[in-house]
Amino acid sequence: MNKLDTALVNSALKAAGFDTTESVKDADIVLINTCSVREHAEQRVLSHLGHLKHIKESRPDMVVGVIGCMAQRLGDKLLEHEAVNIVCGPAQIPRIAELVTKAMNQRKKELAVTQKVLKPTSDIQTQALEDFESSYGIDDRDISGQAFVRVMRGCNNFCTYCIVPYVRGPEMCREPKAIIEQIKKLADREIRQVTLLGQTVNSYKYEQGDKTWCLADLLDAAGDIEGIEWLRFVTSYPSEEFFDAILQVMADSPKVCSYLHMPAQSGSDKILRAMNRNYTAGRYLEMLDTARAKVPDIAIAGDFIVGFPGETEDDFQATIDLTKKAGYKNAFIFKYSPRPGTTADKRLEDTIPDEVKQRRNVELLAMQEKISGQLSRTFLGKEVTVLVEGLSKKSNRNLTQNGSPQLVARTATDYIVVFNGPPMLAGQFVKVKITQTSPLTLFGQLVET
Ligand code: SAH
Ligand code: SF4
Repeated sequence: MNKLDTALVNSALKAAGFDTTESVKDADIVLINTCSVREHAEQRVLSHLGHLKHIKESRPDMVVGVIGCMAQRLGDKLLEHEAVNIVCGPAQIPRIAELVTKAMNQRKKELAVTQKVLKPTSDIQTQALEDFESSYGIDDRDISGQAFVRVMRGCNNFCTYCIVPYVRGPEMCREPKAIIEQIKKLADREIRQVTLLGQTVNSYKYEQGDKTWCLADLLDAAGDIEGIEWLRFVTSYPSEEFFDAILQVMADSPKVCSYLHMPAQSGSDKILRAMNRNYTAGRYLEMLDTARAKVPDIAIAGDFIVGFPGETEDDFQATIDLTKKAGYKNAFIFKYSPRPGTTADKRLEDTIPDEVKQRRNVELLAMQEKISGQLSRTFLGKEVTVLVEGLSKKSNRNLTQNGSPQLVARTATDYIVVFNGPPMLAGQFVKVKITQTSPLTLFGQLVET
């Protein structure tokens, strides 16, 4: 979601005549897009701001803006920071070029946040977001051939640990026509893979006349667009509504990637209840069985929070057990971070010491790595189709004899594949034969066609 917002802001500013620099030191304007999901992310922003304050001592004209969820959460408190000129929440990003220009010309501090974020967004604001979203979106620094499309904003779930509903506001689904038109435009600009985004993307629902659109309908319609080859969607909430229809379109459409990111958060029913997640570990695992029965090649990814208030060793063991049974391709594991204003923070004490959270994090990660390693090994010797993203992080260290650098790509099931090849393959589909594997990466050779 933040990558998309960054791309939107970048392309809007470019349209307004601005350009990006390689280094902060050369910039007239610095914008920091922020996340509030965990405290650590916010601390990093504050440390960047400390650094910028230092730079501003010799460059007082530099304009610094904080955008995104932390801007929404802290509002004028953040504006008081010496380095900050602009504070702009997620719903105000359509105004970013205007805010930047004003801050540059008038040397005044600018605050643009929604005051009552839990109320439905006003029609004017929704229209502004719609216009912004459909006009911009591909940034020339994005991964070639790929784009994100938001299908819904906000979230109504109020998981007790989570700040998202308080900073991104209530759930609002975009009109199917606007989404489909946007994907058509992206296809015309040589986008081959579109990822549909929503906090609970599988609960997308839009009533139009006597038809109710769900995510499966969107995937089906997007699959008809010429030029679009792969469709993905993140993130799914473990809910029965529409689940079968979504799996069906995944099974039927060659364009819908067999990949499901559906976080469990915990394997203990007691903790799931305290988190206000509306399922049990047993029901969650049954859903994974259903998914595998309908889409046999499906790859599943998850998220976990360890050290939620009251999590005993038995509760944590239940999470380990669930992980063993779930067979995730990979899982993102986070230590519980109390977020101000959330129900968990108001009602439950952060009782689990950091060393315990850390140990549980390491233990769960080790278990997941074992499973990921086993799944990766099944690819040895196989040929896979991948969409090439571009140069790998170590591209120059691993040149082949003919000088081809190392590239990074992904399979339809989201496995990362690293191989040597010409950089102009970025944005294209190629075949790679897998010769070596590690838990999170497959290594191989380009199959010449
Ligand atoms: N909407 C998505 C997740 C959004 S936040 C969903 O419901 O799946 C991404 C992940 O951050 C969550 O899945 C959760 O695992 C983690 N997370 C959210 N709040 C957190 C907190 N307070 N402390 C630690 N991790 C958190
Ligand atoms: Fe947060 Fe829960 Fe909404 Fe995901 S579903 S964004 S975890 S409140």
